[in-house]
This record gives sequence, structure tokens and C-alpha cells, in this order.
Amino acid sequence: GSFDAMGIREDLLRGIYGYGFEKPSAIQQRAVVPIIAGRDVIAQAQSGTGKTSMVSLSVCQVIDTNIHEVQALILSPTRELATQTERVMQAVGNYMSVSVHACVGGKSIGEDIRKLEAGVHVVSGTPGRVCDMIKRRTLRTRAIKLLVLDEADEMLTRGFKDQIYDVYRYLPPELQVSH
Ligand code: AMP
Repeated sequence: GSFDAMGIREDLLRGIYGYGFEKPSAIQQRAVVPIIAGRDVIAQAQSGTGKTSMVSLSVCQVIDTNIHEVQALILSPTRELATQTERVMQAVGNYMSVSVHACVGGKSIGEDIRKLEAGVHVVSGTPGRVCDMIKRRTLRTRAIKLLVLDEADEMLTRGFKDQIYDVYRYLPPELQVSH
């Protein structure tokens, strides 16, 4: 398989190759096409298999950068994973002007508010802080079309179930879900 054959937008392909990827890993070959086709996808993989990169490039592909609203929300069990996803997305999305913000606990709330009010396309965060930002109406959810639950099992283990349901209640009903 090749990234070229996956129907990925040109500016994103440049970012992927620029980042140093030559061909998709197994999980990328199986999950990217159905996610960008709009299907709900459950992808299970060990860490280090290209899962974070799979999430990052799938999300980049579904964003319309002309719309200055949050269109994809990625929830992760740890601040490190949420921040790592933000970084990979900024790298592969380098040529498509996608703006991503990591919304995680332990960082300044003022900075979250400033970034979100300035307008971002993607939020990669941990459930508690994301929930807080939604309830403050700082994170506007009406344009969100894709929800990714990264390491969903780990989030449940860490007791984020209620917060995930809380977030879910604010999302549009026609939402696409991947985990
Ligand atoms: P990930 O699971 O996405 O964090 O990826 C694990 C490691 O593999 C990271 O160092 C990635 O940069 C790298 N990686 C992910 N996908 C690819 C790919 N298609 N080609 C080469 N390296 C990759």
C-alpha cells in the first residue's frame, strides 16, 4: 500500500512525506481509508505501531481549514498522549494550515481560552479539561463532526467514563466516532 493510493489531500501528503513517512503502517492501511470515508471505526493496536500518526492524519484529512471552528475532538487518557497527538498533527498538517490545540489539565486555563477563542480546527485533550472548556462555552461543539477516543479502554480504566459521556452530550447527533 501507499499513501498516494489512499485518497489523501495533496497538501497533507506533502506533510506526511515531509515528516519522513514513506508508506503506511499496517494500522494506517486498515484504518485511514474508512475513517476519511466517514465510517465509525474501532482500531486496536499496540503502541508504537503508528496509531497516533494514523489518528493525526485521518483527522487532518477531514478538516475544512476554511471553516474556523472546531471540527474534530480527540480525547486521550494522558496529557502526554494528547500533546503528542497535537505535535504529530502540526507536523503532518504543516502544509495545510490546520490549527490544533492541546487542551489538557495542568496547563493554564487562560491560554486555553485565548487559543480557543482565536479559533482552532482540532482539539486534542484529556476528558476533564475538555469537559470544562465545553461547559464554559469556550469550546464550541456545533461544528464537530469527528470524535476520536484514543485508548478508550485506558480512559475507562482511569475513571473518565462520566466525563466522556458528559462531553458526548454536547456533541452534534450526526457525529462520527472512532476509537
Ligand atoms: P505512533 O504509534 O504513531 O506514535 O508511531 C510510532 C513511531 O513510528 C513514531 O516514531 C512514528 O513517527 C513512526 N511512524 C508512524 N507511522 C509511520 C510510517 N508510516 N512510516 C514510518 N514511521 C512511522
